[in-house]
Amino acid sequence: MNGEDITAVDVVVVGVGTMGSMALWQLSQVPGLRVLGIEQFGPAHTYGSFSGESRLYRAAAKEGRIYIPALLESRRLWQELEAESGRRLLLPVGALSIGPEGHEDLASTLAAIREYDLPHRVLDAAELAATYPQFAVRPGDIGILDELGGGLRPELAVMSATERAVARGAEVRYHTEVLGLAEDGDGVTVSTSTGTIRARRVVVTAGSWTTRVLPELRSLIHVEAYALTWFMPRHLELFTPERFPVFMRDLDGVHAFGAPSLDGYSIKMCPHLMWPPLDHPSQVPATISPEQLAWAGEWAQRMIPDLVPDPVRWSVHHDSVSPDHVPVIDRVGAGHIVVATGMSGNGFKFAPVYGRVVAELATQGASALQHPMFTLAGHLDRAGVAA
Ligand SMILES: Cc1cc2nc3c(=O)[nH]c(=O)nc-3n(C[C@H](O)[C@H](O)[C@H](O)COP(=O)(O)OP(=O)(O)OC[C@H]3O[C@@H](n4cnc5c(N)ncnc54)[C@H](O)[C@@H]3O)c2cc1C
Repeated sequence: MNGEDITAVDVVVVGVGTMGSMALWQLSQVPGLRVLGIEQFGPAHTYGSFSGESRLYRAAAKEGRIYIPALLESRRLWQELEAESGRRLLLPVGALSIGPEGHEDLASTLAAIREYDLPHRVLDAAELAATYPQFAVRPGDIGILDELGGGLRPELAVMSATERAVARGAEVRYHTEVLGLAEDGDGVTVSTSTGTIRARRVVVTAGSWTTRVLPELRSLIHVEAYALTWFMPRHLELFTPERFPVFMRDLDGVHAFGAPSLDGYSIKMCPHLMWPPLDHPSQVPATISPEQLAWAGEWAQRMIPDLVPDPVRWSVHHDSVSPDHVPVIDRVGAGHIVVATGMSGNGFKFAPVYGRVVAELATQGASALQHPMFTLAGHLDRAGVAA
């Protein structure tokens, strides 16, 4: 294709990462719809918000009960994608939250569990130490095991959703950057680095790059850097997925999360490192300082004493973030463009269901799964800005 050609399709999906691959998968299930995904990098590349081996799935969201219906539907869709692709994407290892009894996150997790009657176990300090001897447990700690929780395989999930969409007739153009969107009364003209495309609807799932395509969202969306660290246990057999869940641990004001060993030599264990907010993923720090790594190692070992405190692997990633960490999922402009962004370090577990929401917004104009808090008007209202 050269710059003079204009391809015409029903829906263009800008960005085939987490949300984009799931949107494509959902859109490809609409009979007769011509769908095109455009991705600036290659398939399941390393630059997006999804890379890093694993993600936590929790049904019992500490973030609030508004998310639980979506999380349960998302789990069903994860299982559907597993069945369709023949791949294990959601490891059923459970999600364990540990902290002092009464900790705010534990209280909201328990409230969600009770309201939705979710399968779980609450362990007091003695039960916790006996069941999960991997963790250092203090008197007064409790553990909540979300039995529907588990570990997601993000790169495999993005690849699987995209492959299923392509098998149903969707097209994907890789190594093609969307440079601009021009909306008119009938649709959108999409300018890309390899030509122009005319679409009836456009779904923007560009993650941390969203404001380059939709600059009008600059007041809402910024980018944050997040680190992942892996440590080697002395007794690897205690940390296999058969024996060890995904977890979140709060200790003396430090929050950490992690996952069992998936590489056969280390576990993911990430005491939360922080950087100032960024405008663009190109500003993500290329390295983690020795001091930061030493701090992470100290906390990793304090929480899980079997770990050697020198990390064997680490990486820095990014995500798009909204002011109150609620995602932005809505139609924008004159209504031909739909966006899903501002996943705020929390979006992977929701990916298939948010893929469905944007697919429904693009094809039907509305989605029963779009919570009012996700709308632009809702965000602007909470930010105290007139819509
Ligand atoms: C380190 C880390 C740990 C996390 N842990 C968890 C967890 O345990 N559980 C959980 O639920 N969530 C977690 N999250 C959050 C979750 O991974 C993200 O919210 C989610 O991946 C965001 O998806 P996205 O589709 O918005 O962005 P991405 O997956 O980055 O997709 C955006 C895509 O758009 C493409 N793109 C952008 N602009 C253009 C353009 N102009 N033209 C063409 N292509 C374009 C990009 O290349 C990219 O492929 C974590 C995030 C990070 C970074």
